[in-house]
Amino acid sequence: MSKTKYFDSLLNEWDSIIKKKKIFSSIKPCSACGSKKFNKIFTKKKLNFVICKNCTHVFINPPIKESVIINHFKKSKTWSYWSNKILNDKKQKKIEKKKLNEKKKKKIEKKKI
Ligand SMILES: [Zn+2]
Repeated sequence: MSKTKYFDSLLNEWDSIIKKKKIFSSIKPCSACGSKKFNKIFTKKKLNFVICKNCTHVFINPPIKESVIINHFKKSKTWSYWSNKILNDKKQKKIEKKKLNEKKKKKIEKKKI
């Protein structure tokens, strides 16, 4: 799958999700601090991006229902491509392993300080 085809496919999958009814759950408080005060920043593809007035955390509100997300990942061709071709690629695995080791090193260095 070419990059263009991949991103086209990703957009098509998203468009088919937002065409469905009842994909959103109820309005939720900020997942970072629990505040119920936020301002809408913008709406894109039916998603409301809001910023928490208390801690400036930016999130989608109302969020998409967990069941919709789970269902999407079960059926998604782009996700399947991503997890099978990209994450399973030997070069990519080396890169991810290196990143993980660097994170571990940083954690250990922080503990020493
Ligand atoms: Zn917050």
